[in-house]
Amino acid sequence: MYEFAVAPAVQNIRRRGVEIGEVSPDSLGSELELESGDRIIKVNGRVVRDYLDFRFQTAGETELMLEVRKKSGEDWELQIERGEGEDFGLSFEQIVPRQCANECIFCFCKGNPADARPSLFIKDEDVRLSFLYGNYTTLTSISEDEMQRIVEQRLSPQYVSIHATDLAVRAYLLGVDEHRADISSKLVRLLDAGIEIHAQVVLCPGINDGEVLRKTIDDLAAEYPRITSVAIVPLGLTRYNTDARLTAVTPDFCRQTIAEITAIQGDLRKRLGTTFAFLGDEIYLRAGGSVPARAHYGEYPQIEDGIGMVRTFSNEFAALMRRLGRRPPGQPASVNGTILTGLLFAPVLRPLIEKMNSRFGTRLYVEGVENNYFGGDVSVAGLLTGGDLLASQSRIRGDFVVIPKSTLKSDEEIMLDGMKLLELSERFGLPVYPMDLKSFSQFLFRQN
Ligand code: SF4
Repeated sequence: MYEFAVAPAVQNIRRRGVEIGEVSPDSLGSELELESGDRIIKVNGRVVRDYLDFRFQTAGETELMLEVRKKSGEDWELQIERGEGEDFGLSFEQIVPRQCANECIFCFCKGNPADARPSLFIKDEDVRLSFLYGNYTTLTSISEDEMQRIVEQRLSPQYVSIHATDLAVRAYLLGVDEHRADISSKLVRLLDAGIEIHAQVVLCPGINDGEVLRKTIDDLAAEYPRITSVAIVPLGLTRYNTDARLTAVTPDFCRQTIAEITAIQGDLRKRLGTTFAFLGDEIYLRAGGSVPARAHYGEYPQIEDGIGMVRTFSNEFAALMRRLGRRPPGQPASVNGTILTGLLFAPVLRPLIEKMNSRFGTRLYVEGVENNYFGGDVSVAGLLTGGDLLASQSRIRGDFVVIPKSTLKSDEEIMLDGMKLLELSERFGLPVYPMDLKSFSQFLFRQN
């Protein structure tokens, strides 16, 4: 166990090469008789570890030597000439995340019920996923090989959880010693190599707030524009994470944080021309206030981390209302159903939907759903489970139910507690539509 806990995040790949998922018909891949299940081991003599390697090593090359392990067990060597920009027409297996070697006191894995889906317990710490999807890493156990790879393959931007630039506080939060917590030389090396960094702070009351947070923002802002932005998101506690070192985020704490950080943001905008240090939407909503205006967010550098999502939604909703306003009068009055969402977002959505109802005659009802599965202070829509949604059955009105699309697994219509969408629909006795704003807007237009 101990060995595993300190193993570097980047470990040797157990299986060689990268497995081909699908081969498009009439593509270069199918002409080469590559098939699903074959593994590409090397490109021009260089080992391929995953599809990023394949992409990097084949980019711009017209003459290539591929070493392939066929799924039959045969080894092939393929000498290829291809046209400039000609695609292989191959899709590949997903990247298997490297495991994290920290013991963060607020780790989300500790907040899961014991019977949660196994994938919810994966502690990923992978610079490839950081580059591809904006997943945060701490860089505490990154290997030399992976550092070189970021630079060589330009895996930029990278998303790094800093939490605090005070080393003792960072080490405490990550549950590692100060030597491992100290990533200053790694950061400098990446920044010097031109890798863009976005930073994150998980704000834990009494630990990395106040003076520690001010210092963190100052230290990171000193590296702007090489460090592009900082996302400050609140600690989330479920009923299962009962670590006595953690204090729950309260509305008062959120209001105090907003007051302190708004002043700092004003100064940063004057000095840097950007807000730079952004507070998560959740902090504004839990404070009972509204989120800042569009201009606050610039290019929305941290939208995937819940920074500016509500503002984007409100603006897109306003655009939807304008589009509906251009429809013939009376449309889309036939729509009659209930929208279920998290307790945090319901007060934002309800007035917007009520405006739509009064202007267009729709009959849509917004119901906030409590999260009993995780409990604690979890109130975001994406963590609602089938059981939570079912518990709101008595409040459902109309002919259909809309649920947040984010409650479903990205590749399967199943919720966090294992309930399938079909079962939810059967239990409600109504069609259930998982939607985001885009599909909601398409849905409204389809009704006409
Ligand atoms: S919060 Fe992230 S970095 Fe910390 S222990 Fe959990 S998975 Fe690892």
